[in-house]
Amino acid sequence: MPSSHYDVIIIGTGAGGGTLAHRLASSGKRILLLERGDYVPREPDNWSTRAVNVDGKYQTKEQWRDKAGKPLHPHTNYGVGGNTKFYGAALFRLRREDFGVLRHHGGVSPAWPISYDELEPYYTEAEHLYQVHGARGEDPTDPPASAPYKYPAVSHEPRIQQLSEDLTRLGLHPFHTPLGIMLDERNRPRSRCIRCGTCDGHPCLVNAKSDAHIVCIEPALGHPNVTLLTNAYVTRLETNASGREVTRVVVERDDQRESYSADVVVSSCGAINSAALLLRSVSDQHPRGLANGSDVVGRHYMGHINSVLMALSRCPNPTIFQKSLAVNDFYFGSPEWDHPMGHISFVGKLDGVTLSAGAPAIAPGWTLDLMGKHSLDFWLTSEDLPDPENRVTLDREGKIVLAYTPNNGEGHRRLVAKLESLMQQQRACQIHGHECHQGLFSRNLFVGQQIPLAGVAHQNGTIRFGDDPATSALDRNCRAHEVDNLYVVDGSFFPSSGAVNPALTIMANALRVGDHILDRLGAKASALAASASAAGTRIGTTAGATA
Ligand SMILES: Cc1cc2nc3c(=O)[nH]c(=O)nc-3n(C[C@H](O)[C@H](O)[C@H](O)COP(=O)(O)OP(=O)(O)OC[C@H]3O[C@@H](n4cnc5c(N)ncnc54)[C@H](O)[C@@H]3O)c2cc1C
Ligand code: SF4
Repeated sequence: MPSSHYDVIIIGTGAGGGTLAHRLASSGKRILLLERGDYVPREPDNWSTRAVNVDGKYQTKEQWRDKAGKPLHPHTNYGVGGNTKFYGAALFRLRREDFGVLRHHGGVSPAWPISYDELEPYYTEAEHLYQVHGARGEDPTDPPASAPYKYPAVSHEPRIQQLSEDLTRLGLHPFHTPLGIMLDERNRPRSRCIRCGTCDGHPCLVNAKSDAHIVCIEPALGHPNVTLLTNAYVTRLETNASGREVTRVVVERDDQRESYSADVVVSSCGAINSAALLLRSVSDQHPRGLANGSDVVGRHYMGHINSVLMALSRCPNPTIFQKSLAVNDFYFGSPEWDHPMGHISFVGKLDGVTLSAGAPAIAPGWTLDLMGKHSLDFWLTSEDLPDPENRVTLDREGKIVLAYTPNNGEGHRRLVAKLESLMQQQRACQIHGHECHQGLFSRNLFVGQQIPLAGVAHQNGTIRFGDDPATSALDRNCRAHEVDNLYVVDGSFFPSSGAVNPALTIMANALRVGDHILDRLGAKASALAASASAAGTRIGTTAGATA
């Protein structure tokens, strides 16, 4: 039985919690990590599209409800490393403008309490920690960066290179997607990553994806002061009589009830589960849920407006690793339309098996297998705006209810139309001429379900940070306004969601909050000295393997 009092307890080991654990580990402070899931097993099914995409083998079996009370099977994963075990590792910075007020067609995207410049050093650190491979200067919307990427961009395979040239010819600025994979293209025989076709959505069988488990939790556990308990589900946080301090973290583990305490308690359960945890922790001192005097906890849920679009050609697309190209030319609008539209990139290459899980409209004369062999599979993301009625609540049994009404859809529709028009303007193919392009087909994303709400991969915004305790639950350091020793470092702190994938921002912010916690514990100098000397050794070893 582990001891019960720690300097820091971190709940959840994903992008936020895992990165924070890595930041704090070398401080010598006693740290307890509580993770509701187990390790993702390493087995051949990791790379089976049937097991992962059709059977949903690694997804939670939990059921939530939507606002009409209908069952909702969320597309999310509980385990060491959280959703980063399954992510596509496309690690983008938000644009500088995303930190200010942005006017969209559907309303206003509010400003953050911190500026891009305050987060910038941590973006650089997070990119280095997660071994991001990229090329600066290709994307004109990129915010300024204080250092180059440490690892070269992942190259395009021929079909994607051809698309990149076509888009450039049309006056766009396609760029190499920044990717956290440990690929060394200059030394393929020794590269840890083998550039396979089952990265996005799958765990990496050879541990070459920069996920929070491999990059953060494993090294953190090398420190004797860090303890991880798996299958440890945190049910409730309890406070002292004043309500200003969390004094008990209540855990269900192996059907037993346990409790732990710490000087600092950090929730990093993902935006939906952190909100649910605070809402479950009602008490006389916090009758609307812990740290929820403002009534914002659970509200302003955002998850992006996402589409998967297959552009079908008569010529096959033999690409294996497809997620190497992105386009941000329409991020803030276009000459014809002065409102943000969003981001275009790719999902991992779809195959017939995966398509059978959420079959697209079938092109006449094509089978799913043939469509998978001939499609370019785009991922389009637009910003959804924070609406207080889009929210996480709990039903009478304590189950999660996710209410969501889509908003700001016009920019997304225009982004889809832009992509369609770009595909029609590709160079004529030598075999089929302009008849090669067969159109765009949307694919329903969600395993075994036709409910778009189930796609909670980009969940954020439910416990927003801000300077005003009346409109935010967390202060600018992600500490609860109402509870002195409670922090939240998963995606819930976002006041607005931008239109690029969220994980790098969550990681960078966890490093930022980590520095604040180290300061508070009087441990910053020792942690920085220890991690600087470890970085010297670490960079030496990883460089050989990956760059
Ligand atoms: C298929 C897929 C592809 C994606 N691709 C990308 C991508 O390419 N780029 C990108 O930026 N983002 C991507 N994402 C999103 C990215 O994975 C998330 O934004 C990120 O992991 C969120 O980090 P987090 O710390 O908020 O939560 P998570 O990473 O989800 O971590 C939360 C952790 O808390 C644990 N937990 C929850 N409740 C409790 C509890 N009560 N007690 C104890 N533990 C608890 C969970 O088990 C989990 O380990 C993808 C997601 C998915 C599912
Ligand atoms: S080997 Fe490379 S491409 Fe394949 S899953 Fe692992 S990190 Fe991704």
